[in-house]
Amino acid sequence: MLNIAFIAHDRKKSEIVNFVIAYEKVFQGHKLYSTGTTGLRIMEQTSLDITRFQSGPLGGDQQIGALVADNEMDLIVFLRDPLMAQPHEPDIIALLRLCDVQGIPVATNIATAEILVKALERGDFAWRELQHKYKPGVDES
Ligand code: PGA
Repeated sequence: MLNIAFIAHDRKKSEIVNFVIAYEKVFQGHKLYSTGTTGLRIMEQTSLDITRFQSGPLGGDQQIGALVADNEMDLIVFLRDPLMAQPHEPDIIALLRLCDVQGIPVATNIATAEILVKALERGDFAWRELQHKYKPGVDES
């Protein structure tokens, strides 16, 4: 079971909802997280159970970032709006930076999201399961 997070800016919300509907079966059985409104929209349209954090502008990206910092998050689908300024731009940059720090697969557009979900379906994320099992720091103390 992997930890997967969904975030979409307002003009990308219908895109992420359609994406999750299309791959609902793949996401079933994983632990799902989202920012507030994105998760609400997805849950309205699917039978998936999602742990929702604050809305992005109110700190949701940072809450997801905290899981990334602990290397707990395995995959993030973050459909950003590249054509509209966001009040929480620093939080967005911080989240993406932490993904790079930990080497977490993160899709910021639908084309990459499609490729990553196919990889998930095929079992290419097994290395992340191992990551959870042998978490550095936990056994070393
Ligand atoms: P939201 O947050 O899902 O609560 O809209 C996402 C964002 O806009 O950053």
